[in-house]
Amino acid sequence: MKDAITCNCCQKREAIISLSYSGLDLCSQCFCELFERRVRKANRDFAMLRRGDRIVVGISGGKDSAAMLHVLDKMARRIGSVTLIPVLIDEGIAGYRPKTKKKAQELCKAHGYKLTIFSFSGLAGKRLDQIIKLRNKSKNPQFRTMGACAICGTLRKYLLNKAALRLGANKVAIGHNADDIGQTFLMNMLRADPEGVSRFGPVSENDLDGLTVPRIKPLIYVPERESAYYCELKGLPYHLGSCPYSVEAFRGLVKDFLNDSEGKYPGIKFNVLKSYLGLRMQLAENDAKSAKKPASNKCEKCGGKCSKKVCRACQVLEFLEN
Ligand code: SF4
Repeated sequence: MKDAITCNCCQKREAIISLSYSGLDLCSQCFCELFERRVRKANRDFAMLRRGDRIVVGISGGKDSAAMLHVLDKMARRIGSVTLIPVLIDEGIAGYRPKTKKKAQELCKAHGYKLTIFSFSGLAGKRLDQIIKLRNKSKNPQFRTMGACAICGTLRKYLLNKAALRLGANKVAIGHNADDIGQTFLMNMLRADPEGVSRFGPVSENDLDGLTVPRIKPLIYVPERESAYYCELKGLPYHLGSCPYSVEAFRGLVKDFLNDSEGKYPGIKFNVLKSYLGLRMQLAENDAKSAKKPASNKCEKCGGKCSKKVCRACQVLEFLEN
């Protein structure tokens, strides 16, 4: 039997988690404190929560949004005058969404919040399962070649923004963790879309005429694996299964690559995150020096933020109408 390892931080309690990228072995209390410190650091670095904020918190029923709601709730109480409004987007995925919805409802109830639900059916008159069937039969090459996650992610982002506008929120918090950010950054590079680096970030700006509610990512410094640990240690309800469409995603390939690399060279994921944040800052400084504004238009249809004439969500809705 192995000897118990003592926590490197408090030097008292037994370590229950080993963070290979930092060489630290931590007890449950020190680990949870580190987790919460990282969210507070994100808040300080990127000015996410402010008094008077009304924040829609995107809840999926998974580990990231469960951990995010728990920590934001603590922070909101400490800061004062911050209202959190948990919102779940029901895409309509049989066998998956009903289970996650149940966990999300349990989570919100445990924290004294009401969960508000918006659905793809309400937006487009169709569930994602039906939309994917239509895509598979579509003669439109643009629609037919869209991945399930590209369709789902586009409509979800659009609907979350609509929800925030309807609920009078001035921010939307989403549970993207450090792994998600690193994956998106690499995907942009692999797709030769360097401009994508300025399109996503810890805090999105460019609120055009009040139609695009800024998004904040409080878990930007949190590795994915640690969200699950945090939920387990805090007893937060979350659903562990994966969405049946996740196998279609290009993201899965990049995720596997980063996970393998992290296993061989601990710390690589944080290096990717640092590279992304460094590059983003450099681009922002260059833009400030040349007084250049990031490319951003208004969608001709909905008026929301868009880099082309019509935003992707309006394009998908158009495919569905035709
Ligand atoms: Fe939507 Fe893809 Fe996530 Fe499933 S895995 S919920 S299809 S974005």
